[in-house]
Amino acid sequence: MIPLTLTATLRSPMHLGATNTAGNFLASLSYLPGRSLLGAVAWAWIDAGGDPGAPEFAHRFVSGAVSWGDLHPVPVKEETGAAVDGEPLVVPRTIKVCKLSGLRHGLVDVLLTTPPPEACPLCGVGLDRLEGVLVGDHDGRWLSPELHRQHRAHVSIAFDTGTARSGDLYSRDVLEEGQVFRGQIHCSDEPTAKAILDELPRLRLAVGGARSRGFGQIEVQVKRATASTLEVLREQSERVAQSPADVWYFTLTAVSPWCVRETDGSHARSLTPRRLARVLGVEEANARIVRGDARSESRSGWDGAAGLPTELRHVIVAGSTFLCAVRGLDGPTLQARLLRLSGRGIGEHRAEGLGRVAVNHPLHFISAEANRDE
Ligand SMILES: [Zn+2]
Repeated sequence: MIPLTLTATLRSPMHLGATNTAGNFLASLSYLPGRSLLGAVAWAWIDAGGDPGAPEFAHRFVSGAVSWGDLHPVPVKEETGAAVDGEPLVVPRTIKVCKLSGLRHGLVDVLLTTPPPEACPLCGVGLDRLEGVLVGDHDGRWLSPELHRQHRAHVSIAFDTGTARSGDLYSRDVLEEGQVFRGQIHCSDEPTAKAILDELPRLRLAVGGARSRGFGQIEVQVKRATASTLEVLREQSERVAQSPADVWYFTLTAVSPWCVRETDGSHARSLTPRRLARVLGVEEANARIVRGDARSESRSGWDGAAGLPTELRHVIVAGSTFLCAVRGLDGPTLQARLLRLSGRGIGEHRAEGLGRVAVNHPLHFISAEANRDE
């Protein structure tokens, strides 16, 4: 797998529809889903003269050989207002922060610490789950991005009369221009990676709703992911191989939604020992989920081209995380299989960036003091 880092800057306000939208208010997502990115790139590629019937089209956008990941907001440096360099990391659901002081009182992980802490170690008040993403900066601190939103009021115009439709005032939640989002594209082969590096910055990309009003224009930069991405992976799987005895412990975290089918065709609600055994090639009796924190939900989308709702999917949400135990493998073999798992991902719809896996997510291993300000 060849990882590329894509940085997108909003050149106009962006509206990405959320499914929880009610009444006359159109809520916006706080990230750019891989599905929207894939759609925008595919359309732009066709607009630029690409043939949707060509095998290259299927290879890039349909086959899963390229995984177009979610793009998450990037925090800005306080002094300059410029986006920081790091990659946004989806926070595991077991990471908590102080209810009152947030990140300034450090991060607490309740997956690996036994017994799990119930209060802020610094001030004793309760803990809240930390949602979304964090980005590491050069000083080893974790920063949380802040999104700038606006509500825009609109009226619908009736085509026949050219006047406002009665009673059709609605408001749209938009992300303001100038904000920066970042994520990864995973390519299965070098020629495709090269082609994407070359072509993507030249395509005119627009994502989300109200594109006819000029919304959703993005400018992208794409480069090879820093070597550290692969090194970190290697380092983390080495940590697994160093655990003593014949049982290996490691964590698996969904860093994008997982759409996993059970053998009877139904959507899985969580990671099961059976699935774990299957992806690692061990007997079911040798795979165990020690504990975890998972949530699943139904998602539907809208296919703009067909003018139809897309199939309903049930996904295990990003941030779901599991402590796993496996026996019956030697360390190097397990390490190789975990590397393969984090390169390929799990479940369906990987072309749209679903199924991304982090092995031994770094946030499970940072000390409670790491982010303290006081
Ligand atoms: Zn506190």
